[in-house]
Amino acid sequence: MMLRSFVLLQSAFLRQSVCRLQALVFVALCGLLTWDESISAIVGSAYAAEEPGCLVGFGKSEITPLLPTPMAGYYGIRYSTATHDPLWAKATVFDDGKTKVALVVVDLIATTPWMVSETRRIVEENLGIPGSHVMISATHSHTGPMLYEPEERVVGRFGNQTQEAKDFMLKLPDAIAKSVQQAVENLRIRSISFGTGEETRLAFNRRFFMKDGTVGWNPGKLNPGIVREAGPTDDQLPFIAIHEEQGAVSGVLSSFAIHLDTVGGTQWSADMPYTLQESLRGVFGPDGHLQYATGACGDVNHINVRTAERQGGHQEAARIGTRLSGALLRAWDSRRGVSDCRLAAEHRIIRLPVQPHAPERSEWAKKTLQKMGEPNLPPFMEMVEAYRIADVESRSDGFIEAEVQVISLGRDIAWVALPGEIFVQLGIAIKDASPFQQTSIHELANGSIGYVPTRQAYSQGNYEVISARCAEGSGEMLVDAAVSMLRKQFNDKPQASEKGKQE
Ligand SMILES: [Zn+2]
Repeated sequence: MMLRSFVLLQSAFLRQSVCRLQALVFVALCGLLTWDESISAIVGSAYAAEEPGCLVGFGKSEITPLLPTPMAGYYGIRYSTATHDPLWAKATVFDDGKTKVALVVVDLIATTPWMVSETRRIVEENLGIPGSHVMISATHSHTGPMLYEPEERVVGRFGNQTQEAKDFMLKLPDAIAKSVQQAVENLRIRSISFGTGEETRLAFNRRFFMKDGTVGWNPGKLNPGIVREAGPTDDQLPFIAIHEEQGAVSGVLSSFAIHLDTVGGTQWSADMPYTLQESLRGVFGPDGHLQYATGACGDVNHINVRTAERQGGHQEAARIGTRLSGALLRAWDSRRGVSDCRLAAEHRIIRLPVQPHAPERSEWAKKTLQKMGEPNLPPFMEMVEAYRIADVESRSDGFIEAEVQVISLGRDIAWVALPGEIFVQLGIAIKDASPFQQTSIHELANGSIGYVPTRQAYSQGNYEVISARCAEGSGEMLVDAAVSMLRKQFNDKPQASEKGKQE
């Protein structure tokens, strides 16, 4: 009785308190006492190692191709020559006793429908986790393998239909599923905290209003024609930390909106997620599970056009990874604890109309694509447009199916998966409308439909719009679907106090 009134008294005090230090002291005090449901609703305000945990498991499986294989990332074929750092499939599984979900990230240029459906089939058969509860996203490493497409409808893309690419792809679903299996086997009670770092000077919108009235794309360093950026960046670095019983950190999941084309060359590399991982390992130890996903960054990269500095190679990747780890660690002390482990997962297939083109472009596209094997390739933008037209025309009904998936943990954390290179403004729109404390976007997830620009960008044109398979307004349709699922999951999980009233 004494204990309960003390807790209630302290709860009232805490509700009025705005001082984080006081909150920390209080939560630490409560850790000495036994856990009481009456305080569970307010423990979202600070993190202490004594908080009750959720079932969480980690796994990883190496996916570096063993033999020289065509590499992804650019228009043109190049074979791998060595491994700089291995490529991984990394998985984190959460289990609330009723529901299991798996968040998987692969060090690859993209995810493809076959890769995702096969992996989900294996995971469902072997582990009983339904496909809709498995989120598989790609970091967009440009130093990973070309991805073979068993159901390629159009033409091969510079090495993706070679035997090496096929051999790699056929083994990939098993390897990814292995990371999930390891995570399931590794499930144990761990406590979770979450925070949001900020990094304002690392990512740049790569579309610019130019003095000639056009919108430029990657206009080049110190280009005098630049007026200003044509779009925003997302400076948030959402992360969650997972702690062992004694408070030691065993896992960190994070994401940031920056295009992953830093290192280049012909050696396999996970690119910046590798350097972020190494930097965080220096802090949390060599065994930490450090899983990074790429946010909505269809129009954002690391190139600062206002400096003349060369920005590429492994040192540049190290600069970016180290700075991101710094942003994460700066926000470390403002983490909040998660006391609600209830999971929810849903995915919806959205039918997006394809981008239309004039009928006469059809013949032109076919002729342009015939020149692809020749030594002198057509101009870059012509190749981009020809690929789009051929791809769009292979979809007989004029629609593209796009999967939007939302997974949430309690009323605090949500992950949104979108299947393409998503303009940053669309990711920000989802985060702004989300009722969850923290919402992360994982792009190139559960398949890829290519670039997804904003409605506004379509009238401005240039690279991403020329390349986009989906029509104007598609990005906003994906946002609407994501926000509707976020709201539904949030409202389906009443607060602990409201839940008490219902029962
Ligand atoms: Zn790219």
